[in-house]
Order: sequence, then structure tokens, then C-alpha cells
Amino acid sequence: MHELALRCSGVHKRFGLTVALGGFDLSLRRGTLLALLGPSGCGKTTALRVIAGFEKPATGDVWVGSKHVAGSGSWVPPEKRSIGMVFQDWALFPHLDVWHNVAFGIGRDEADRVREVLRLVDLQGLERRLPHELSGGQQQRVALARALAPSPEVILLDEPFSNLDATLRAAVRADVRQVLREAGATAIFVTHDQEEALSMADELAVMVGGRVVQVGAPHEVYGMPADSTVAGLVGEANFFRGIVRDRVAFTPVGDMPAPALSDGPVEVMVRPESVRLTHNEQGPGRIVDAEFYGHDQLVRALLPDGTRLEVRLLGPRPDLTIGSPVTTAVVGGVHFFRDGRPVLAAADNSGRPR
Ligand code: ADP
Ligand code: MG
Repeated sequence: MHELALRCSGVHKRFGLTVALGGFDLSLRRGTLLALLGPSGCGKTTALRVIAGFEKPATGDVWVGSKHVAGSGSWVPPEKRSIGMVFQDWALFPHLDVWHNVAFGIGRDEADRVREVLRLVDLQGLERRLPHELSGGQQQRVALARALAPSPEVILLDEPFSNLDATLRAAVRADVRQVLREAGATAIFVTHDQEEALSMADELAVMVGGRVVQVGAPHEVYGMPADSTVAGLVGEANFFRGIVRDRVAFTPVGDMPAPALSDGPVEVMVRPESVRLTHNEQGPGRIVDAEFYGHDQLVRALLPDGTRLEVRLLGPRPDLTIGSPVTTAVVGGVHFFRDGRPVLAAADNSGRPR
């Protein structure tokens, strides 16, 4: 059996003067749930449409399983690609009930399969309901069941949770992930929400300007961003300008040994959980804002030189509220970048980029 469910290589697609995909590469192993994360307009939907066969790439190749579906003179139409789609608006047939929505893409004699996927998405008993008689979460599951029913090689989900309100979204995400796993499906879901991407995916592909710039497990991409753009897209990040002189990096959050760095300016990135704040009447910083999330909070500290610093605090911290004078200390990984690329400050730098 072919190990890759999907491969895109050097895919280019433009609309007039707009380059939607400029050398899009992606490989997907069977059974993987991959998040395609990137800012609005970076080409995510176009990538899915090229993979599904709704758009023809100008150049580049696409394979689904071992089948060459686009490129070098090959062209396989969407219905023959073994791809299931879950669209942003779910695109259910409003006049068809749940059963017939799910049965749509498969043969007449597939009642057992329809029953099976309806069980998988936990919609038994609702077979005769019309889409408008279902909640948002249930409609989402119908769309997923319809995509799963023909057992496609790959399922593509385009911002599948954007129609759901925040409280429902977290629950539906977990459901969808479990259903895809149980079905042993291979899937790509597109999102511009970093938290969604980090929490749901086995693998994370970060897309910027029509290309995938980094792929890896969520913790790898978070811990070792390939460049400063990725660092800012995946997770929260504090960026500062520093300067290296005689193997010391002088930064607004402290001086750090940087034996491997040559003299000159350097971009410094520190995650909010890598900074410790201590209440100190002598200052020099001050907390100017706080967002409370229950399990943690994100506070902003202002340093005398005007530097703003986001810091994540765990647990209740009555000593650290808006207005509190503080000292700051960097206790976790520090990332250094030059020209947007990671550079190693020291061999034992805990935030070591690869
Ligand atoms: P994303 O899904 O990441 O938000 P899209 O793939 O939808 O991005 O779009 C990528 C770029 O291509 C955008 O600049 C968008 O305006 C442009 N684009 C997408 N589809 C079309 C189209 N059918 N005609 C013209 N421009 C398009
Ligand atoms: Mg889109």
C-alpha cells in the first residue's frame, strides 16, 4: 500500500495578477490529520480546490494515493479523485433529509454504509430530519458523514468550524477529531486560527504567501519556528530588537550570553510563558493590561523604555493586577533571528532552533 495519501509538488496557480499558489509543496501520510494554517488570503482555499480538482494548476503536480491527478498532461476530474470535501458553509442539500444527504455520494445499495457513518458521527435517530431542523453542530456532522461515506483517500475541510459560535466550536472540534480518527481518515483542515490548528492537528503546515513554509508536529513548529513570520503566526510571541556586542545579546528584557553570535542587530523572540513577573515596589515595569481566561491569564507589562511584553500567568496571582509594579525575568527559551531566519546564540540555548 502506498504510504502517502497525497502529494503536491511545485504547484502554481494565479488569478490574473494575483499569485494564489507560488510553489506549493505538501506531502501527507495515510491516517494523518493535518492543519493548514495561514493568514487570510495566503492561498489555503485555492490549495484545497487544486487538490480536489476544482482548479487546474498552471504548473506542478498532484498525486492522490498513487494516482497522478494533475500535472504533466495528467488530469483526473474531481469525482474520480477519491476526495471528500467539507465546505465552510457545509453545503448540505436543504431539501434532502439527513439520510439522503449522507447517501448522496454513494450508490443506491449502500444503506449499510450510510447507517455505519451515521453511527460514527452519532446521528442515529435523526435520519428523517431536514438540515434546518438540526443544530449547527449536527449539521456539521452531517457534512462530515457525507464526506466520509464513500471512504475517500483524503478528506478536505475548509475552515469547518467558522460557522459555529465559540462555545460550540471547542466541543465540535473534539468530536470531529474523534470521528476522523475512528474512521482512520486522512484529512487536511484549513484554518486561520492558531489555537485550533495547534490543538487539533497531528501535523501542522504553515502557509504564507502561497507556499508552505514549515511542516511539523504542532510542538515542533511552536518550539522551533522556521522563521520569525511563523513564530508570530503560531502561538503568541514577543518580538524585540536587540544588539549583540562581544558575545552578549543586549535586549529590552535583559542581557543574555550569546557566544555563537557575531556583533550586530538581532531580532529576539520570547513566548509569553517564558517570562516571569515578580511584584516589586521598585519597578521598573508596570502591568498595564490583563486578559483573564480562568485557567490562566495574559497580562501586558510596560517597561520604562516603552517595551511592551505579553506574559502568561498560571493560577490566581492577586499580587499581579493592573497597575502592579514588576520586575521581569526570562526563564524559558529565547529565539534569535537575523533576516527573519533563526540563528543559534549558543550551543546550549534552550530555545534552540534547528
Ligand atoms: P485563503 O483561503 O487563504 O484566504 P484564497 O485561496 O481564497 O486564500 O485566495 C488566495 C488569493 O487568491 C487571494 O488574494 C484571493 O483574493 C485570490 N483569489 C482566490 N480565488 C480567486 C478567484 N476565483 N478569482 C480571483 N482571485 C482569487
Ligand atoms: Mg479560504
